[in-house]
Amino acid sequence: MSPLLEARGLCTGYGTIQVVHGVDLTVDAGEIVVLLGPNGAGKSTTLKSVVGELPSISGTLHWRGQPSDGPLHARARQGISYIPEERAVLMRLSVMENLRVAAGRPEEAAAVFPELANHLARPVGQLSGGQQRMVSVAAALGARPKLLVADELSLGLAPAIVTRVLGRVRVAADEGLGVLLVEQHAGQALAIADRAMVMVRGRIVWAGTAHEALASIDELHELYLGTA
Ligand code: ATP
Repeated sequence: MSPLLEARGLCTGYGTIQVVHGVDLTVDAGEIVVLLGPNGAGKSTTLKSVVGELPSISGTLHWRGQPSDGPLHARARQGISYIPEERAVLMRLSVMENLRVAAGRPEEAAAVFPELANHLARPVGQLSGGQQRMVSVAAALGARPKLLVADELSLGLAPAIVTRVLGRVRVAADEGLGVLLVEQHAGQALAIADRAMVMVRGRIVWAGTAHEALASIDELHELYLGTA
């Protein structure tokens, strides 16, 4: 069976500046693939291209075996939910309104994180960073996507919240969701991932199972990731 998502030789960038140089990646239903790498490696750029926010320069992208080159909204209709690094929520709208806009099924989305129940009427801008991230993940999962593409879910969050958010993503993957996750901090992401890839300067320099990555985490840090 075809993978959910398959990129071959993906090259992309901004204007005349090429940032991603020939990336191959696949994501299957039910698996979490984490893309690691230092600051500026091109991880976010890769995600933007995969979800249709940024056109590719060359390479092929297939969605469930079919060529895929539509813009962001078309890919969303196909079943791709994208959580960008910033502005993933509408700050002035309430939690409930955010969930309704993004997922159409606010009650079901709210149930993703029961701890949001007491905050449904509050503007998202009044919530903590961790709660805001929960809203963006609940909104994304509430849309019942086939693939979740998420950029730095752990950014700026306390480790306990990261565990909670990533744990919920793992549950969704166990139910069949494919997940492509970008993370700068390897440890917690690898703990829930199935496979890992390391990107440096726009190229994949290491790929293996999450288990293999954890077993060689010191080496990966030393060679590619720095001490972050
Ligand atoms: P980070 O964790 O810092 O976001 P990253 O691996 O996700 O790192 P990207 O954000 O993809 O890296 O950035 C890769 C390169 O592309 C960097 O050199 C960055 O300066 C450049 N870049 C990112 N966004 C733009 C943009 N909108 N216009 C021009 N160059 C950009």
